[in-house]
Amino acid sequence: MIIREMSHADCVALLAKSWVGRLACCKENVPYVVPIQFAYVDNRIVSFSLPGQKIDWMRANPRVCIQIDDIADKHRWKCLLVNGVFKEQVRDEQRDRAWAALKTDNDWWEPGSFKPGPQAIASERNHVFYAVDIDTMTGREAFDG
Ligand SMILES: Cc1cc2nc3c(=O)[nH]c(=O)nc-3n(C[C@H](O)[C@H](O)[C@H](O)COP(=O)(O)OP(=O)(O)OC[C@H]3O[C@@H](n4cnc5c(N)ncnc54)[C@H](O)[C@@H]3O)c2cc1C
Repeated sequence: MIIREMSHADCVALLAKSWVGRLACCKENVPYVVPIQFAYVDNRIVSFSLPGQKIDWMRANPRVCIQIDDIADKHRWKCLLVNGVFKEQVRDEQRDRAWAALKTDNDWWEPGSFKPGPQAIASERNHVFYAVDIDTMTGREAFDG
């Protein structure tokens, strides 16, 4: 097996075709990682969430890391690590842009809209749109050789 660094263009291509990543945030030296669905647009990762632990933690400490991969098998895979800064999208035009980026996927809203237990009625929901502005990104890929 051979491992090599991915070019920036290959990293961007993988980001653009991926829809799920693992978002890591940290508060008071305690790490927290959850899977999220996202869209990639203009050097940003955009996602959607209900209020909860990850949103509280990213509001407290906006520095995050997101891991994305494309694994064929143990010897053929691609893996990206993205470091960036959480930016809550609060203005209407920001939320509209996030919506437009996400809606290219069917059912884009579902994974971020449900939690265990009774569901809130629609008018009580307080969805959060957020972006992660990418600071650095590295990719590695493995292949047989
Ligand atoms: C494929 C996939 C796509 C997803 N896409 C999104 C998305 O786009 N947006 C989104 O908001 N959520 C998404 N989720 C759900 C997400 O992973 C979290 O479960 C959810 O967002 C709740 O996170 P929270 O920090 O608000 O947790 P809270 O509801 O505040 O709960 C906090 C506690 O619950 C536990 N917990 C939370 N989530 C999980 C989990 N996934 N597994 C095990 N324990 C957990 C933790 O121990 C944590 O301490 C996705 C999940 C999957 C599997």
